[in-house]
Amino acid sequence: MDPNFGTYQLGEEHEALREAVRALSEKEIAPYAAEVDEQERYPKEALDALVKAGFAATHIPEEYGGEGADSVATCIVIEEVARVCGSSSLIPAVNKLGTMPIILSASDDLKKQVLPAIASGETTASYALSEREAGSDAASMKTRARLDGDHWVLNGSKCWITNGGVSKWYTVMAVTDPDKGANGISAFAVHADDPGFTVGPKEKKLGIKGSPTVELYFEDATIPADRIIGEPGTGFKTALKTLDHTRPTIGAQAVGIAQGALDQALAYVKERKQFGKSISEFQGVQFMLADMAMKVESARQMVYVAAARAERGEPNLGFISAAAKCFASDVAMEVTTDAVQLFGGAGYTRDFPVERMMRDAKITQIYEGTNQVQRMVMARNLLK
Ligand SMILES: Cc1cc2nc3c(=O)[nH]c(=O)nc-3n(C[C@H](O)[C@H](O)[C@H](O)COP(=O)(O)OP(=O)(O)OC[C@H]3O[C@@H](n4cnc5c(N)ncnc54)[C@H](O)[C@@H]3O)c2cc1C
Repeated sequence: MDPNFGTYQLGEEHEALREAVRALSEKEIAPYAAEVDEQERYPKEALDALVKAGFAATHIPEEYGGEGADSVATCIVIEEVARVCGSSSLIPAVNKLGTMPIILSASDDLKKQVLPAIASGETTASYALSEREAGSDAASMKTRARLDGDHWVLNGSKCWITNGGVSKWYTVMAVTDPDKGANGISAFAVHADDPGFTVGPKEKKLGIKGSPTVELYFEDATIPADRIIGEPGTGFKTALKTLDHTRPTIGAQAVGIAQGALDQALAYVKERKQFGKSISEFQGVQFMLADMAMKVESARQMVYVAAARAERGEPNLGFISAAAKCFASDVAMEVTTDAVQLFGGAGYTRDFPVERMMRDAKITQIYEGTNQVQRMVMARNLLK
């Protein structure tokens, strides 16, 4: 036997990163998680702590001022923040989502315009694909962009945009050639100060209440011509390629929320007594805990494999990234619901964090493509 056998084991650097993010999350993010949820306010304390520690956008390459962290490391950061606060974990997660189209497809000049400000924590980035009438069928979007001399002029609106209003940079997908369907969609970097661009009111949501979700409006919004990301017509491909890289990060968020609920449940069942003993002594409770932990661990392994494959730049990431997101988010919903159950009546109150975790878990089954859409992606890959 070889005690140094490294296959299926995270390296020392990844484990050290987990330890550091966990310590920071427990000390500087967890104390505000209930308040952020209750008051539906942006987790400023989390932003400040993550920026100070260099964890807000770890994935940005060093040449653009970032940490150059790999995909597994980025998942670990998101997972550990989500373990204590789902809303706060959207800071690193959506920074990756908003900047990945630029990292994958933009010119070096545009990368230099946008990425250093995200890397330094000066601002955050958001990703604008969905529209009110174009969700699962995102390619049916109506927002238009036309070239007018040395500017692009955008008209239309985007919907459900995470961290909108806080972010200064937005990756926006818009139709540049309506006759070409998905091949007529282009991607743009829009700045909050661009003329004609405004942000709508916040949605009132079930969970992740600390993360603003807003509409974006473009009324003859005018941006310089060089803010197009890649060639005209490549925007939808870039959007989908981005999701191959970021669906594992939503899986990581789901794993973190589930682990948080499991940890809370483990602590509670040891304390709570009924029938003259700790409820952790009942086999019915033990079996629930075993199933919860088994599912969380399976989801975690799948998320890391998906992230590692994305990091290696493997082709055909469609199946594994959809599977990791879908499986982990289904696990998060099951495990958080079971955690509420193990708390009994107390689980149904805001005196304990498990009800928030259950509400926060639900969104992981919906965004970056619903889990029905993930299953369509998986099936398409299986049958091709
Ligand atoms: C809190 C929040 C944050 C979000 N953040 C962002 C963001 O930052 N950027 C962004 O671009 N978008 C974002 N979204 C949008 C999100 O990705 C969409 O809501 C999602 O893709 C589903 O689209 P929809 O809401 O229009 O639902 P619909 O597409 O209307 O789906 C309704 C139901 O029909 C099902 N369905 C649809 N088509 C099929 C099919 N072919 N087969 C089987 N079932 C189907 C769906 O699975 C779902 O159950 C966010 C959404 C929310 C709620």
